[in-house]
Amino acid sequence: MIDPPDTLFPEEESRSPMRPQFWSLWHGCHRKSEGCLHCYVYRRDTSNGIDSNLVHKTSMFRMPVQRDQSGRYKIPSGTLMWTCFTSDFFIEEADEWREDAWAMIRERSDLDFYMVTKRSERIPDCLPEDWGTGYANITICCTMENQRRADERIPVFKDLPIAHREIICEPLLEGIDFNGELGHWCEQLTVGGESGREARVCDYDWVLDIRRQCQEAGVPFHFKQTGAHFRKDGRVYDIERRLQYSQAHRADIDTR
Ligand code: SF4
Repeated sequence: MIDPPDTLFPEEESRSPMRPQFWSLWHGCHRKSEGCLHCYVYRRDTSNGIDSNLVHKTSMFRMPVQRDQSGRYKIPSGTLMWTCFTSDFFIEEADEWREDAWAMIRERSDLDFYMVTKRSERIPDCLPEDWGTGYANITICCTMENQRRADERIPVFKDLPIAHREIICEPLLEGIDFNGELGHWCEQLTVGGESGREARVCDYDWVLDIRRQCQEAGVPFHFKQTGAHFRKDGRVYDIERRLQYSQAHRADIDTR
């Protein structure tokens, strides 16, 4: 039995969505762990007859440093650049292109770059020589979808030299015990369910328990989306894609 989504949480909250630029400088990836099973890159590529395993540079590669006819950068200063969202910035095939990417990021120190990876173990070998304690205009976000991947990735990720660092647990596949490892090294932890027809269930109790751990560690918590199948108080709700973000917002459980 499925209830309509608007019975899940009682009150609406309005938020203004961020409007970043997407910089897909290379495209394609390989499944890395359990969270990749229904990866949207594969879903979309399959419907377009594209092999997602073929990693290639895109026509957007030089996007941050492109200029208009008057010589000004096309991307205005202060823009948030969602970087590499149809691949993984630290994927092996991109090793030969990454130096050029770092050079563009250095040149555009007036932009903010946000990148998400499941390959935290590759980060140390992929950093540029002048990285130091991390470029101030880059946030690196490591994703971990279950206990196994949190146990594997947190010890590596938390000690890396990164100026701005976040965690994403999405798609959240089970409850996660961070074993007291969360702390101020992590600027935000985001949780979300899985989207798509074959999505796995996300349980509200898992979400609340991670929120509790964030509060105890002083880490800001963000509940981003419910996913397509969401369990609350033992009942599973099927949530339309267009309502998955607003339903999470209505839970009103974010902390700062
Ligand atoms: S690492 Fe990310 S982009 Fe790559 S297959 Fe997994 S979910 Fe998809």
